[in-house]
Amino acid sequence: MIDTHIHGDSRSSEDFKKMYLGGIDSVISCSFYPYNLLNETVLLNHLNRILEFDTDRAKNYGIDMKVALGIHPANTDITPDLIYKHLYKWIHDKKIIAIGEIGLDELTEKEIAIFKKQLNIADDTKTKVIIHTPRENKKEILQKTKEIITDNINPKLVVIDHVNMNIIEDVIDEKYTIGLTVQPEKMEVTEAIEILDKYGFDRFLLNSDISNKPSDPLSVPKTVRQLTKLNYNKKEIEKVAFKNAKKFFKI
Ligand SMILES: [Zn+2]
Repeated sequence: MIDTHIHGDSRSSEDFKKMYLGGIDSVISCSFYPYNLLNETVLLNHLNRILEFDTDRAKNYGIDMKVALGIHPANTDITPDLIYKHLYKWIHDKKIIAIGEIGLDELTEKEIAIFKKQLNIADDTKTKVIIHTPRENKKEILQKTKEIITDNINPKLVVIDHVNMNIIEDVIDEKYTIGLTVQPEKMEVTEAIEILDKYGFDRFLLNSDISNKPSDPLSVPKTVRQLTKLNYNKKEIEKVAFKNAKKFFKI
């Protein structure tokens, strides 16, 4: 299985062990710094840490950690040019498989400018992007996010993540790939299955978004096993367990 969105830097070695035993082979670790950034060098250090340190930590437990880096909307209180420069370099050197997670939280001018620039970098370099939808004002912020996507990037490069029943109709007719995050306080296994049952398995990725917030490192295996238990078609289950992610991210 592939867990398509985690924050490995904030999780323990015990979690990696558990995930591996639970059937997870690969994860995509995304950037998010949970504390005030003194400056962009602190953010750069956070990003390099994921790339160089956490990938190794996960490997010790059998997990192949792929990396998505970028400037999370909560981390936009910096001068971003240093990070843009590194994004180009990481993309060129094939160190990252996507820019992420990025997006909008509060619609400040700075947040919007940094979001647009990262979409332009992704579009220029034909790199995938992992775009979140926030916990607060999800529907309203998704509308703005969609407008900005339309003007700045090929939608086929885009994952819209943390989609739930309330916003699925706003994304299902677009060309995006759709992330379902099964996490305490976000979405239960049953809601994810309800969405897959209604809209089919072709467009979706599964993830746990394990972070410093309440999380379940086994939420992807739990969802996949529940689908199996409910007798969904094996080939369909494989799409959300790993095939869609492999194809989309070319991993
Ligand atoms: Zn996240």
